[in-house]
Amino acid sequence: MNNPVVLVTEDDAPVRNLIVTTLKTHDYRYLTAANGAEAVLMASSHNPDVLFLDLGLPDMDGIDVIRQIRSWSHMPIIVISARSDDADKIEALDAGADDYLTKPFSVEELLARLRVTIRRLTLTGGEKGADRSVYTNGKLTIDYSAGVARLDGEELKLTSMEYKLLCLLARNTGKVLTHTFITQSIWGRSWENDVASLRVFMTTLRKKIEPGPDAPKYIQTHIGIGYRMLKVDE
Ligand code: CA
Repeated sequence: MNNPVVLVTEDDAPVRNLIVTTLKTHDYRYLTAANGAEAVLMASSHNPDVLFLDLGLPDMDGIDVIRQIRSWSHMPIIVISARSDDADKIEALDAGADDYLTKPFSVEELLARLRVTIRRLTLTGGEKGADRSVYTNGKLTIDYSAGVARLDGEELKLTSMEYKLLCLLARNTGKVLTHTFITQSIWGRSWENDVASLRVFMTTLRKKIEPGPDAPKYIQTHIGIGYRMLKVDE
């Protein structure tokens, strides 16, 4: 993807300028919006590649901006907010945000999150690519039609639950999935002990795919929030 376009939604001018300057110096193209209504309008009229979104906007809550945009678009949304509670992060992610960055943030971290998101776009080729029948990420492959996952060419012996979990994470590579989203997707509900079970399945899945117990390469943990499949270079 050449010079992706980022729509920066931020009412605080100094923060907006910092983000814009960072994008400019790294050859990203950008658009800006200073409130929620403008963000929704710009998102629909300009179809940017990525949306940066502050939650505390003068005219509406950023969560509602996410909900509105998600009703017609899958464009990646990275929330950049001063709200640092897990509950706020979970609300934004469950509303459809892809990632969450807490203010104050470093420019390096902002760029790193943006790269993860853009690699996801490149990997999945947008919505259409998500239906591709073979998934490849580093040494990991999943042949969805055969229902087989392999690591370095070796078939993985996964239980059906581990396989479901792996496919869900793979189909959302680059996106942070909350515990609620995962348990809803897998069991159709999210009870307290479902999250506990999820941790157990995640541990056994990781033993099978990760190079070492202390060096997760594919699945990243967001403590108190959920998990994310990373794009691995190999
Ligand atoms: Ca604000």
